[in-house]
Amino acid sequence: MKKELIRWYKGHHRELPWRKTKDPYKIWISEVMLQQTTASAVVPYYEKWLDLFPDMKALSQSSQQEVLKAWEGLGYYQRAINLHQAARTMCRKNVCTIPDKYEDLIALPGVGPYIAAAVLSIAYGQPYPVLDANVRRVVMRLAGIHGQFSRRTDKILFGRIKAIFPARNGGDFNQAMMELGALVCKPRNPACLLCPVQRSCLAFQRGEQEVIPTPRKRSCQKIETVVGVIRDGRRYLIQKRPPQGLLAGLWEFPGGKREKGETLRAALHRELREELTAEVKIGRRLLTVRHAYTRFLVTLFAFECELISRPKFRKGSPRWVFLKAMKRYPFPSGSARIVRFLEDTESRRERSRLTG
Ligand code: SF4
Repeated sequence: MKKELIRWYKGHHRELPWRKTKDPYKIWISEVMLQQTTASAVVPYYEKWLDLFPDMKALSQSSQQEVLKAWEGLGYYQRAINLHQAARTMCRKNVCTIPDKYEDLIALPGVGPYIAAAVLSIAYGQPYPVLDANVRRVVMRLAGIHGQFSRRTDKILFGRIKAIFPARNGGDFNQAMMELGALVCKPRNPACLLCPVQRSCLAFQRGEQEVIPTPRKRSCQKIETVVGVIRDGRRYLIQKRPPQGLLAGLWEFPGGKREKGETLRAALHRELREELTAEVKIGRRLLTVRHAYTRFLVTLFAFECELISRPKFRKGSPRWVFLKAMKRYPFPSGSARIVRFLEDTESRRERSRLTG
């Protein structure tokens, strides 16, 4: 089975930029970006990241704001913060490079068993099998194991994968398994007739490939937030989120969650009073944005606001920022959509001014 798998991988894998290198820093960045995001979505982020931070030293010398800005849109912002902290940790020790020992690597912020195994096997050729969602699904189907992904099944899957893991070129084997899961052994409609390991697959032999693994039912909490787009001449008011917790360190328009039974406008008045000690006149609704996070479905309502009293900036770090300067600030997706909306509106206004 190993031979067929590796032969298939060599002939069919996608040409992705991180597959052209063995540089541990670049492999590390790609693997962190690839967690729960598709390869095609990662490519532009990966290339931009390496332009900005070509090596660990450059990353360690950048500011957290620059790092978050480069990550903007990828989600899971704590991962970017962890990359930055890990680079600083290593460079402080005067070893501006990725450790090649499991214990040293896993001690870095944000490095778990998956990242450690992927980096050590792909960059350093060490025999560590990876177990991501794609590999889990492939192994469960190959071995005909029913059920959902869980810690208990992980133990069994690790045992199975270790039994077939090659003594050499473990990085190729890991990448081949992940690629098979991404391209052939997909969650729905696996392409079994094109699969290089079909003859070794118990799920296929039993016709069970569509029912393994059992899909996990995820509950998704719905949240409504309301924000004020407050303008002072050509500047807008934005503020930084707290350094800990969801979307830590990103910037946003002031506002917050709508409480049960509250109207959107009442919620916005309350939030702005609490956050900025400011009274505003709420104007028209500018935009409604929906965005899905892993466990939340957020609907964000943005209203144009006019200040009645000057804000006192009691909490956080609100700042008046020109629209052109917003590109220096990292925003979560919802707020980034509002910024794009304001830019479009401003350029339309500018065009109509020029054409009279
Ligand atoms: S034969 Fe089908 S179910 Fe089995 S590993 Fe291949 S694609 Fe997956």
